[in-house]
Amino acid sequence: MTVAFVTGGSRGIGRAISIELGRRGFVVAINYARDDVAAAEAVTAVEATGARALAIRADVSDPAAIEVAFTELDALGPLSVLVCNAGITRDTLLGASTQVDFSRVLGVNLLGVVTCCREASRRMVSRRAGAIVTLSSVAAQRPGRGQSNYAASKGAVEAFTRALAVELAPRSIRVNAVAPGIIDTAMTEELQALAPEKLVERILVKRLGRPEEVAKVVGFLCSNDASYVTGQVWNVDGGFKLE
Ligand code: NAP
Repeated sequence: MTVAFVTGGSRGIGRAISIELGRRGFVVAINYARDDVAAAEAVTAVEATGARALAIRADVSDPAAIEVAFTELDALGPLSVLVCNAGITRDTLLGASTQVDFSRVLGVNLLGVVTCCREASRRMVSRRAGAIVTLSSVAAQRPGRGQSNYAASKGAVEAFTRALAVELAPRSIRVNAVAPGIIDTAMTEELQALAPEKLVERILVKRLGRPEEVAKVVGFLCSNDASYVTGQVWNVDGGFKLE
């Protein structure tokens, strides 16, 4: 059995990805930052697929904590999949924002990805096998108001993903990004409450996405069915703003 590590795997899109990877036969290590109850529930949901799962609490923006988390992973078996899904928003107009908020968003959304990819790639390189998927966002290309910090973090994640794909291709490791549109999770609760009709107007399929719809694409990119796919950003956004 090989291991999949899903950051922010306890809720929302990450939870759906953890379940999808469980269905695909991985041992699933579910990372999270604070919510022990949600993490325990996600472990139970993955176990219901017949897979082995465990929760690992560690803030992705803390390199020392992530190093310890990867040491825990080493005891489970060879790491073949990393999904860098943990992410946060601190939407504010730039003029009203603080450097602390900007740094926090970059610290989790970008540097958290960098730290986890560094740890994972060291392990994957020696086996000359592996797949890494990062989570970008529609906001990288089509940001909303107040999203300068979030858009900057996700644009950087896309550039980082391409650069890492170049670096790791000679070692047979594939690296891709998935860029969701507006998905029905806790992250978009406020946005949904503000102007639900306006949101849907901008989406070709006229509805929000479900976490499972993102997870299916991530599961595919982690599998050998995607053996000829690397360095790409896959939009999963229901045709956001194409009209
Ligand atoms: P969510 O429902 O808010 O869940 C976030 C998950 O990340 C939770 O498991 C949370 O754990 C974990 N997390 C947060 N900060 C962390 C940290 N510092 N270290 C480790 N784990 C941390 O988010 P989501 O909507 O599923 O979004 C998942 C990813 O998709 C994010 O990267 C997001 O930017 C991206 N995305 C989402 C949407 C959308 O519409 N929802 C659209 C585009 C892109 P705790 O509960 O323990 O804090």
